[in-house]
Amino acid sequence: MSIFDPVYRDTHVSGQIARILFSNSQAIKHMLWEKSKLENLTPAQIQVLLYINFVRSDSVTVNSLARHLSCTPATVSGILDVLQGKDLVERNRKSDDRRKVILSLTPKGSRTVEVVQDVGNDIEDMISEFNEEEQEILERLLLKMSKKLIVKKLINYTDFCLNCSFFHRSKYPDSFKPHYCDYLNIFLSEVETYKECPDYRDTLN
Ligand code: SF4
Repeated sequence: MSIFDPVYRDTHVSGQIARILFSNSQAIKHMLWEKSKLENLTPAQIQVLLYINFVRSDSVTVNSLARHLSCTPATVSGILDVLQGKDLVERNRKSDDRRKVILSLTPKGSRTVEVVQDVGNDIEDMISEFNEEEQEILERLLLKMSKKLIVKKLINYTDFCLNCSFFHRSKYPDSFKPHYCDYLNIFLSEVETYKECPDYRDTLN
C-alpha cells in the first residue's frame, strides 16, 4: 500500500486525504521558500524569527526552539549565530537565573518580522472562502490530527492561554498581572496571555 499509488487511493479515502495533505504541505514549504528568498533568509531563519516574536518571551530558549523546529540545539545555535551576525537576534542571560539564555529580536529583527509574517496569509485567504461550518469542521479535524502528531513527537504545538487547561483568568483582578498559569506558576498580564506558549494544553475535546 502507498498513498502515492492511485489504485490504492481509489479505494481508500484515508490514503487520498493523506496524499492531499502531503501535497499541501509541499505548497506551504514552497511559499516559505519564496518568502525567504525575497528576504535573503532561509525558511528555518524565518521560522526562528516568527517563533521569537510570537512566543512568550521567557519561553524562547534554544531548547524550546529545537523542539519547535524538530532539530538539535546545536543546529539551532548555528541558525542563531547567523541571525545574530545579521543583527536580527540577540541572546541575553536571565537576570534571576544566569544559566538560562533568553532570545529576543533586535529592532532590525522586529522590522524583518513585520515583512515576513504574512507568509501564511495566502492559506488563510483560501480557508476563509469556506463557509463557517466547513471552517469549524476543518479546524476540529486538523486539531485532532495535530494531537496525534504531538503524541508521536512529530510536532510541538503552541497556542495562547485562552483555551489552555492551566489558565486561571483574573485570579488577582487588582494586579497588573491578573491572570495565573497553574502549570508554570507565573502571573500573566493581558498581553502575555496572547503569546504563543510551548506548554499549552488545550481544554477542547
Ligand atoms: S501553560 Fe497554558 S496557561 Fe500557562 S502560560 Fe502556557 S498557555 Fe498560558
